[in-house]
Amino acid sequence: MASPVIIRTAEFVTAAVKPEQYPTDPLPEVAFAGRSNVGKSTLINCLLQRKKLVRISRTPGRTQTINFFLINSAFYFVDLPGYGYARVPEAIRASWRPMVETYLGSRKHLSGIVQLFDLRHPPTVDDLKLWGWLQSVRIPTLPVLTKADKVRPAQRLSHTHRAADMLGIPSAQCVGFSALTGKGRDMVWETLLKWMGLSAAGKAPTAEPDS
Ligand code: GDP
Repeated sequence: MASPVIIRTAEFVTAAVKPEQYPTDPLPEVAFAGRSNVGKSTLINCLLQRKKLVRISRTPGRTQTINFFLINSAFYFVDLPGYGYARVPEAIRASWRPMVETYLGSRKHLSGIVQLFDLRHPPTVDDLKLWGWLQSVRIPTLPVLTKADKVRPAQRLSHTHRAADMLGIPSAQCVGFSALTGKGRDMVWETLLKWMGLSAAGKAPTAEPDS
């Protein structure tokens, strides 16, 4: 399936744990957050049409850096460390919150956050805490419900309603996503381009900034 955005270049730029390590060029960026194993690497790779740009996690919860990817020399994708994985050592868990809050609170060019939830299960306590915090600081957030292909079609709607109810939003605001079928990918792109003020040129947008 053709992507609505032509990805000419997608490169890993840096892994940061503190603001001094963040890229300094004033390009718009969007960040991706979710509990470990929710499908965050898979979603980012699917959006970028790269199989392994973001490593699909073998040991969930071990990646505790903020990873910056430069796309088309025009904007950044930021992969925030996954949270909530039970087997992660306490010290690593404790470092998640200050690292992520510092990032979210200090990034001037952050256009919005994609927060991922597993469609199979109700949002977790950790999911709801992050969601509530993002709402309170008024960062635009797109809820993406992953692994839709793993839920029987007859149950997808009720699972979506359940998640939306717990997030306190209409279910139409949630995007169901499946990496197997590509379902939801174009809707996610639509929101990201809008947030970043990037235009779609004709039918095959190139994700170049408006000039
Ligand atoms: P992360 O820890 O959030 O980055 O999660 P990953 O992207 O590594 O995904 C965790 C596991 O879920 C991997 O085995 C993926 O192949 C699988 N997965 C992710 N998204 C989907 C999806 O949409 N459908 C299915 N069937 N599996 C998925």
